[in-house]
Amino acid sequence: MSARSGIGYDSHRFAEGRRLVLGGVEVPGAERGLIGHSDADALTHAVIDALLGATGLGDIGQHFPDTDERWRDADSIALLREVCGSLGEHGWTVLHVDSTVICEAPKLAPHRDAMRARLAETIGIAPLDVNVKFTTNEGMGFVGRGEGIAALANATIERR
Ligand code: MG
Repeated sequence: MSARSGIGYDSHRFAEGRRLVLGGVEVPGAERGLIGHSDADALTHAVIDALLGATGLGDIGQHFPDTDERWRDADSIALLREVCGSLGEHGWTVLHVDSTVICEAPKLAPHRDAMRARLAETIGIAPLDVNVKFTTNEGMGFVGRGEGIAALANATIERR
């Protein structure tokens, strides 16, 4: 048996008139959403990069380039599903994902369980094996100024 881990990081800028989608969950009543070529789901993008990192398959930009019209407004959960498929083809299974979302507002904790459930169902593991944490940046930097949201993730995978 071999086991590996990978890290992922992503950030997206806030914009008016966009949906706020994190971990595949649309945050209801959010005044602003995140802008990007896809649905700008920074948490799911960080998880994808952690899984690609663990598998040794590069990064999200290589697999889903933002210059490709196929991925415009893409549902990031569908991208995660595709990445889990290639991971499986390489003989890997996912053991655990941990993540942190860094955001000043809105409060995301009420949506934690929904995000865990959505990510876990997509990856094919139990919600208890997908941890989602939230923190602020104490008013510092671009997150502190409310310009955007950042996310970090770590994934552990194994191959028998
Ligand atoms: Mg991204």
